[in-house]
Amino acid sequence: MAVLEVEQIPVLKDNYVYLAHESEANVTAAIDPAVHEPVLERLARKGWKLTHILNTHHHGDHVGGNLALKAATGCTIVGNGADAARIPGIDVRVRDGDTYMFGKAAAKVMDVSGHTVGHIAYWFAESRTLFVGDTIFALGCGRMFEGTAEQMWGSLAKLRALPDDTLIYCAHEYTQNNARFALTIERDNELLRARSSEIDIARAHNRPTVPSKMGIERATNPFLRADVPGVARAVDLVGAPPAKVFAEVRRRKDVF
Ligand code: ZN
Ligand code: FE
Repeated sequence: MAVLEVEQIPVLKDNYVYLAHESEANVTAAIDPAVHEPVLERLARKGWKLTHILNTHHHGDHVGGNLALKAATGCTIVGNGADAARIPGIDVRVRDGDTYMFGKAAAKVMDVSGHTVGHIAYWFAESRTLFVGDTIFALGCGRMFEGTAEQMWGSLAKLRALPDDTLIYCAHEYTQNNARFALTIERDNELLRARSSEIDIARAHNRPTVPSKMGIERATNPFLRADVPGVARAVDLVGAPPAKVFAEVRRRKDVF
């Protein structure tokens, strides 16, 4: 069984870059390297050689380190073939539904457009590991810069169907602010209230709140709960289609 070892590297103001290491084939990927130097430092500390970059989408804080890392290591850059023109240095063009073999670990490629059009996630089922970029955050979701609410809701609904113990590796530490917003939507959600207290404690000690797990996201993240009656009621849209409810929750977060 090819299991991934994941390293979390905080960079810039609130980004996370990840290293994923698959020891059987001895391959190491950087997921969404915003920058190159902290990645090279961590690789040296771990004694790993960078063989791959996996990109989720084209934003600068996700691809900014691509070319410098490729120049330094000769790594292979993997990204969405449907958005190849915006992924610097892309070598391998994957598509929605593909199974990409990272060493001996299989990743299912999922189109999760909405934040951008052409955003993908990498689902390593064996390791219960999901690299999700800016689609889901702990208690949040990405802003819709390019896609529509229908698209984003569809993407979140696809991800929501993954197992409870799925580890969600998102690309930003936005959790504390997200929790404050989530409580404006579901202030009587006991799990959310308990989680919010835990998050405050973690952040007070400067500990990461990421990765989170799909089970707790499904129970507490308002953006995954647009089809829960209490959420529709909170935004005065009882009986409306979930995508509409989702759009209104997203709109409120944009101005929160
Ligand atoms: Zn982004
Ligand atoms: Fe980002």
